[in-house]
Amino acid sequence: MVTDAGVFPKPAHGPYYRRNANFDAVGFRGIHPGPSTMLPQTQSAWTRTLGQLALVLAAALLLGLLAGHPWPVLAVAALGVVAWHYWKLRNVLLRLDARQRVEPAGGRGAWTELDRLLYRTQEEMRGRKRRLVEMLRAYSAAAAALPDAVVVLERNSQRVRWFNDAATRLLGLHYPDDIEAALGERLQPLPISHWLAGGRHAEPIMDAASPVDPALRLSLRLIPYSDELWLLVARDVSKLTRLEQMRRDFVANVSHELRTPLTVVHGYLDMLDPEEQPEWTPILDEMRRQSQRMTQLVEDLLTLSRLEAQDSVEDEDVAMDSMLVTLRREAEALSQRGHGIHVEDRAGADLLGSTRELHSAFSNLVGNAVRYTPTGGRIAIEFARSDDGGATLSVRDSGLGIPTAHLPRITERFYRVSTSRSRESGGTGLGLSIVKHILHLHQARLEIESEVGQGSTFTCRFGPERVRERATAPAPPVITP
Ligand code: ADP
Repeated sequence: MVTDAGVFPKPAHGPYYRRNANFDAVGFRGIHPGPSTMLPQTQSAWTRTLGQLALVLAAALLLGLLAGHPWPVLAVAALGVVAWHYWKLRNVLLRLDARQRVEPAGGRGAWTELDRLLYRTQEEMRGRKRRLVEMLRAYSAAAAALPDAVVVLERNSQRVRWFNDAATRLLGLHYPDDIEAALGERLQPLPISHWLAGGRHAEPIMDAASPVDPALRLSLRLIPYSDELWLLVARDVSKLTRLEQMRRDFVANVSHELRTPLTVVHGYLDMLDPEEQPEWTPILDEMRRQSQRMTQLVEDLLTLSRLEAQDSVEDEDVAMDSMLVTLRREAEALSQRGHGIHVEDRAGADLLGSTRELHSAFSNLVGNAVRYTPTGGRIAIEFARSDDGGATLSVRDSGLGIPTAHLPRITERFYRVSTSRSRESGGTGLGLSIVKHILHLHQARLEIESEVGQGSTFTCRFGPERVRERATAPAPPVITP
């Protein structure tokens, strides 16, 4: 159990508490007349003390006059008053020094008023402290009771400052041994040292095996909530991961099971000769088209399932000059001379990755450019280096474009701007989803810029680690009308 407020970062350490506390709730006072004016009670005590001083001095003067020595008697009386005040001041200092709380005695002078004010301030401070501790305990108990593992760690040293009960269950941290432990080392074999070093830029880890039990799947998120302290939140996503796996298996199995019957139907359709029954020609054509579509759909679903099951690709040198030649040939075949196709290789470099998968991604983009660009439009495929030392492959068309509202969802499975247009052009709605998965396996990004009626640019952005210098000079631009 790590619910002790003592292990929770102290409020005195600054931003942690200051940012979260509701100060009204801990009793800071509201309006006060200000430093130059007094409350009526204090004002009257002050006036009374001044009056008493005047009275003592007047009495001493009178006594002095009667005795025939007014000044010496007045001086003695004044000294007496000063001594009395010094004695009172000493008492107050002693009490404050000893942190004593003394209830104000009776009396209505300035010293009694000072006692009363000091007592009131001390009482307020005590109340505030009590409320702060209560709030701290409540926060601490709430954080400890969270079902997600929460670890507070020091930013620079990455050492553990505090963690809740769930951190013991999900991450295997134990109190008090792991307080001040280096988190990266402590959570081995979970590879998070490098991730923690990413700090503010660390992307959440969506699925990782728990160091306690590899069957326990965790999602990890780093929240840099102050300059010195970070919060690591780990959530148990085992159930979600299992469900996701079931969904993937289901889609893969259904697609696989559909393959054989489709091949049979396809085979029989091919055997039917339309010339024998001319009136059946349109029906047979439609049946062939639909069975072709279904086959493509099954193939795309199987491709997606295969990609989703992969964590990485087998790296090889991907010869980009021949890749670009192939893409151009495919674009020309699909376009049937309907578009101006422009291919440019400005990178003079190759990529590191899977030739088969990258070809599949690029040719999907090229296919889309042709399918969604009316005859007479232009398509440009360009491979270039980027400023950060990486490389980009972009496919630009002068086609229909995509309305901005659709862009955030365009890479989702079966998401289409126009279902009928996609179907007419032989689309399955899975192309961009496949592209995104392939790029993800290459730690690359897909960027989409589009304007309705002007065209779209799909850019695959690869990091420097995926770029290989090419021995030969870049091929000259290949342009076909
Ligand atoms: P589909 O098989 O329907 O083309 P994709 O996943 O490849 O599926 O594309 C999803 C949708 O994105 C398409 O239905 C289309 O609406 C839009 N789209 C993709 N590429 C382009 C493009 N180059 N120009 C205009 N729209 C496009």
